[in-house]
Amino acid sequence: MIKYQMVNLLGQYQKIKPEVDAAVQEVISTAYFINGPQVKQFQSNLEDYLGVKHVIPCGNGTDALQVALMALNLQPGDEVITTSFTFIATAEVIALLKLRPVLVDVDPRTFNIDPEAIERAITSKTKAIIPVHLFGQCADMHTIKQIAEKHHLYIIEDTAQAIGATHTCQVSGKVHKAGTIGDIGCTSFFPSKNLGAYGDGGAIFTNDDDLAAQMRVVVNHGMAVRYYHDYVGVNSRLDTLQAAVLDIKLKHLDEYAIARQKAATYYNDAFANNPKIKTPVTAPFTDHVFHQYTLVLENVDREGLMKHLADNGVASAVYYPVPLHMQKAYLDPRYKEGDFPITEELSRTVISLPIHTELNEEILKEITETLLEFVGN
Ligand SMILES: *Cc1c(COP(=O)(O)O)cnc(C)c1O
Repeated sequence: MIKYQMVNLLGQYQKIKPEVDAAVQEVISTAYFINGPQVKQFQSNLEDYLGVKHVIPCGNGTDALQVALMALNLQPGDEVITTSFTFIATAEVIALLKLRPVLVDVDPRTFNIDPEAIERAITSKTKAIIPVHLFGQCADMHTIKQIAEKHHLYIIEDTAQAIGATHTCQVSGKVHKAGTIGDIGCTSFFPSKNLGAYGDGGAIFTNDDDLAAQMRVVVNHGMAVRYYHDYVGVNSRLDTLQAAVLDIKLKHLDEYAIARQKAATYYNDAFANNPKIKTPVTAPFTDHVFHQYTLVLENVDREGLMKHLADNGVASAVYYPVPLHMQKAYLDPRYKEGDFPITEELSRTVISLPIHTELNEEILKEITETLLEFVGN
């Protein structure tokens, strides 16, 4: 029996139950299930929180990425550069739109896209870059922005795992929230994400009025005036119930991040100086909101460790066991095993431990002791 799951959504709900129950009941009692006032209210509160001009709510994080790409008016065969070490959604939407995903390797310490590798991958067909702020810390947006400006490329930030994280520019010192630095930011409100709904949800961010207008049309069947369809769009909405829940949880987002950071610090201290464990490295230009707490194992039998943890009631997970270029649906004659050595090595050696808002020292002690029993000190 797993005692400690990767997340504890029920425990988190218990603490905000009266507020959430009342908000949900209010939506039901007005029966305003689609585009109710709670959607606009959440949109506006999220705009304020992020310091961004436009938030466009949508159905999920994958839709957010797809709509962002659709708004850029790219042509089939145009190339979009992204990381080989991410969740499939990032590359999936590129492929779905008949654009060409161009993969690049990551920084071995932060697991985020390597800006130098981006620059090497640029061709005359490159139109956009999708950096992913993986596991909760920002990619090197200053360098990525410089590259994008030099080559006239769009940037779409995939901030599904890093909502609330900040990025401090190494040069100007300016501080921005993740997802508000490039042309467009995309996030997911999947229940286990840092700002999780009680179902699916997503949002798109931009400071660009024209892109915002275009994306509002795309999410709504390509329609600016009712029943006049100027573009081929999609149907992607955040429903009112989810918006009502998210608006309550948004007020707690920073406190949730602190709880995750505390747990991460406990883990870091417990594993410090262990020759077989590399704890997560946070880049100097970002904070880390620890969507995942991910270790790199050195000469440890990962399967054996995961079994030992599970036998003792502790969940663990591997994000991600197969690099994108080795996924069956994405096999491509341009790529072969060995092309992205850092991603490939990480896919063999990473392990993520439970991290969420409901951990305490007692639980963390049990988890770290169980892990060290297997790995040794
Ligand atoms: C979760 C996630 C998505 C997709 O979000 P959904 O809401 O599940 O569609 C996209 N990119 C990354 C990096 C994610 O972690």
